[in-house]
Amino acid sequence: MIVRDVICPFCACLCDDLDVHVEDGRVTGVDNACDLGSHKFMTDHRMKGPVRRTASGWEEIPLEEAIRETAELLEAAERPLLYGWSGTCGEAQSAGVHLAELVGGVIDATTSVCHGPSILAIQEVGHPGCTLGQVKNRADVVVYWGCNPQHAHPRHLSRYTTYADGFFVRNAFKERKVIVADIRGTDSTNLADEFIRLQPGGDYAVLGALRAIVRGKGDVVPPEVAGVSREQLYRIADLCKTAKYGAFFFGMGLTQTAGKYKNIRNAIELVDELSRHTKWTLTPMRGHFNVYGFNEVCTWMTGYPYAVDFARGMAFYNPGETTAVDILARKECDMCLVVASDPAAHFPAEAVEHLASIPVVQLDPFPNLTTAFARIQIPVAVSGIDADGTAYRMDGVPLRLHRVLDRGYPDDAGILLEITRRITGGGSR
Ligand code: SF4
Repeated sequence: MIVRDVICPFCACLCDDLDVHVEDGRVTGVDNACDLGSHKFMTDHRMKGPVRRTASGWEEIPLEEAIRETAELLEAAERPLLYGWSGTCGEAQSAGVHLAELVGGVIDATTSVCHGPSILAIQEVGHPGCTLGQVKNRADVVVYWGCNPQHAHPRHLSRYTTYADGFFVRNAFKERKVIVADIRGTDSTNLADEFIRLQPGGDYAVLGALRAIVRGKGDVVPPEVAGVSREQLYRIADLCKTAKYGAFFFGMGLTQTAGKYKNIRNAIELVDELSRHTKWTLTPMRGHFNVYGFNEVCTWMTGYPYAVDFARGMAFYNPGETTAVDILARKECDMCLVVASDPAAHFPAEAVEHLASIPVVQLDPFPNLTTAFARIQIPVAVSGIDADGTAYRMDGVPLRLHRVLDRGYPDDAGILLEITRRITGGGSR
């Protein structure tokens, strides 16, 4: 059987044109996906059922027991942390926010270690965004800053920019100019019409110099800024100003380098400056397929996009204080529920050390580094493969994911609702 027009639940491009071949309850082939997406459909190393750590290793336990023990751990904790959420659907994220409020815990997503700074900047100066469809059909100049889409979002260029012909850009490869800013050469810089090779940590200065030139104050710019010559800066400013429609994409090379959210603020203000001459938009290259979704769901429900602390009986948000890494580094939380992420692979050592010293329950289809010290792991269905769900693309467009086969795994939204039901005893609290 071939299931057509399937959405890929790997990265936030959410490509919606996959053909998935299914035979005997297994995926045997995927057409149109990149290697990353294809691997997610084809991989077979999922855990079979819930497991619990014992003194001598792992034991298999019934799902009922895993849910009951998780509910007890959450209820008994003084300061539980509910972390992850970017690799699952909006329905599970919504159940997670309700659960965090119920147990007076902190809920945070992987956003806080990727595009959290983008959100802080957007809260300060706004978001001149657009859909990826607009980029494809209109943009004749595209900037990729601090990201390598050829590796992290492999079909971004073929679906929306370099290789994607659009309504107003009939021959994209010839007509679209691509500017890539990075500290080193990559497979994406190899495709660039202009490669801005800047010194590590020089993003803020280079963006500032471009703003000055676009504003007509280029005389204050020195001959070289963070390794970029004034001549190249003028050339790029000119290219951007004369675009019919410009699209600025940026990744963690901008959000997680020196300057952090001030870099993004500077980039937004450059886009604002350019929009005095022509039309420019800006889009974060979100990574996990539904990391944007968590920010949307959490904002609707609490007023804040991530790092929400319910300990006071109301939503409190203060990134740097209520973010997962900070709470773990201060050794504050005494229990952690990890959903659809792998903090052990990405957090700093001191945060992981504390995580390893407290009870951890993980809801994830696959074993990962966090499994190594989890007390319980419950394997769940994968949204978009064997579970339905809603996810938000990197441009904020919500898409409905449909399951392509049934492997008999429970979905994480259902498990979270069951944990909630056990804590409330079936009523509301
Ligand atoms: S670019 Fe992203 S969404 Fe598209 S197929 Fe590859 S991994 Fe999946």
